[in-house]
Amino acid sequence: RVNVKCEDLQLSYGNVVVLDGVTLDIAPGEFFALLGPSGSGKSTLLRVIAGFLQHQKGRLLIDGRELRDEPAWARRVGMVFQNYALWPHLSVRENVAFGLVERRLSRKEIDARVSEVLEQVELGGLAHRSPHQLSGGQQQRVALARTLVTQPQVLLLDEPLSNLDRSLRIQMRQELLKLQRRLGITTIFVTHDQSEAMTSADRIAVLDKGVVQQIGTPIALYDYP
Ligand code: ADP
Ligand code: ADP
Repeated sequence: RVNVKCEDLQLSYGNVVVLDGVTLDIAPGEFFALLGPSGSGKSTLLRVIAGFLQHQKGRLLIDGRELRDEPAWARRVGMVFQNYALWPHLSVRENVAFGLVERRLSRKEIDARVSEVLEQVELGGLAHRSPHQLSGGQQQRVALARTLVTQPQVLLLDEPLSNLDRSLRIQMRQELLKLQRRLGITTIFVTHDQSEAMTSADRIAVLDKGVVQQIGTPIALYDYP
């Protein structure tokens, strides 16, 4: 279990400031929500933590170690994208195994890890299907499995449930939370849905225009004057 620290992170595109001094201290094992309107910088912050984007000022520390130039693959940070980004021509099992390509593992070890993760997300019986033969919720689980199989220390979720209908979203949210608790992975998820953040997160940071406006537990934020 690791903590994630952002100290005064700044990022601009030209003279457009997208992250304007973001400071956060996310506890080991925490289920942490980034809440804010579209364009507030949530995805940008996730991408900086993942290593897909480089901040210009401030510091990012994971487990007490500062990260600057480490590429995404070297970080033990896993990100699940909003659109799932599954390979249509690969089976469920192959999609999940794809996360382990270039990690110098034996065939046997890859098979064992993939099977374990497929069980964790309850996809064991669907391993040989193609993504297009799956429901939205099942595709979402494949995307999650593909990330979990790399055994990340930090899990980043970019609006992971936004493509699902309401009842499935509620069900998947509970499953996700249960799995997160069981694995104890420090998790940061982005949402623009206040009730989603309020009902699942340990703590919430409210972002607006690249600035953290409020931060606290759901109860503390609910009582905010
Ligand atoms: P356990 O007590 O078995 O570790 P919990 O589900 O109670 O499992 O908590 C898991 C972890 O999540 C804790 O170790 C803690 O670091 C973190 N956590 C839980 N609730 C909060 C909270 N409200 N604020 C910050 N961190 C929390
Ligand atoms: P959110 O995830 O909260 O919707 P984003 O992090 O995606 O917000 O975007 C924050 C701001 O950064 C937006 O105003 C967006 O237009 C701007 N932005 C994002 N990517 C780029 C880019 N590649 N070039 C210029 N501006 C960008």
